[in-house]
Amino acid sequence: MSEQRSRADASRWQGFGTKAIHAGYEPDPLTGAVNPPIYASSTFAQDGVGGLRGGFEYARTGNPTRQALEGNLAGIEGGAFGRAFASGMAATDALLRATLRPGDHLVIPNDAYGGTFRLIDKVFTQWGITYSVAPVSDVDAVRAAITPATKLVWVETPTNPLLNVGDIEVLAGVAHDGGARLVVDNTFASPYLQQPLALGADVVLHSTTKYLGGHSDVVGGALVTDDESLDADLAFLQNGAGAVPGPFDAYLTMRGIKTLAVRMDRHSDNAEAIVDFLAGHPKIEKVLYPGVESHPGHAVAARQMRRFGGMISVLVAGGPAAAQEFCARTEVFTLAESLGGIESLIEHPAAMTHASTAGSLLEVPANLVRLSVGIEDVADLIGDLESALG
Ligand SMILES: *Cc1c(COP(=O)(O)O)cnc(C)c1O
Repeated sequence: MSEQRSRADASRWQGFGTKAIHAGYEPDPLTGAVNPPIYASSTFAQDGVGGLRGGFEYARTGNPTRQALEGNLAGIEGGAFGRAFASGMAATDALLRATLRPGDHLVIPNDAYGGTFRLIDKVFTQWGITYSVAPVSDVDAVRAAITPATKLVWVETPTNPLLNVGDIEVLAGVAHDGGARLVVDNTFASPYLQQPLALGADVVLHSTTKYLGGHSDVVGGALVTDDESLDADLAFLQNGAGAVPGPFDAYLTMRGIKTLAVRMDRHSDNAEAIVDFLAGHPKIEKVLYPGVESHPGHAVAARQMRRFGGMISVLVAGGPAAAQEFCARTEVFTLAESLGGIESLIEHPAAMTHASTAGSLLEVPANLVRLSVGIEDVADLIGDLESALG
């Protein structure tokens, strides 16, 4: 059916920008519409019992707008199969349920996204799943954390919020040697900057809420894999548990993806200029950005990423009060959670996005401030940070 055709399409094109715009959807044969219509239909008429016209019966199972997005997601990550979910956490939940059974174990980063940690620590442990934490930058620690029960090695790179870098190719080998799958949460890099499946990862996860949607106007998640049987299990959970995006959200996400390449270049340009400014500032103790040569993951990041992206974290001199004051004083940078949108955001992870890690092995430094650098004019961004730091 059309799903298969559209999923194969991306291999026709060399360039990322072309795939982002064209993968997953061909102009509508009936009307020529160049954008996927928003199929606001929960059900689909049948020609006789079981006589499906386009392969669709009920929109929890499948909807043409969502299908276009899923083909597009597969195309931009260079995978065979894409699945869209109602949020990044819904995608995480589906992947954990598809791959883990009571008694199984997984390894997670020691600075994993707070929501990922919370779901595993508060929910999955109740169902007999155990976990260990290891820094993604420390291959030996990850290897040592793997047990005979380990089914997943979960990696973010760069990590949220400390911007640590893991070597995907090496970690894939370590996971596979231990009989486990490697999952890469590629939210921070985006597929424009980093292609984990090509480096040996088994599954790529996204919060499409972030760079893929790119405009802070939609919440969504995605999973991409080459593993047909895993994809079938994920499809079963899309239908069986129902955490799927509606057609309006699927449309918005796909619209965002079309400009991903140009946005990521601008995010990276702006971030590099801001890093140069912050690195010399007396109120900043340390800048965490994989593009800086002294960053311990710089060489790996330079090898596996096209550029270094739009996320910067800093340790502010003067402790947590100074960090919070910095966040409160910016004007162009909006004080808010989330990241990856066209507008610049600033936040205090210890009190905001990563508050759920307090007192755990994943606790973040209290003077840490995270910047999501947008695509505004960089002079305005630097001027704003300069006046906020006083
Ligand atoms: C935001 C985020 C998530 C969760 O995604 P939602 O869309 O908010 O549910 C997962 N991983 C990372 C790295 C994130 O930044």
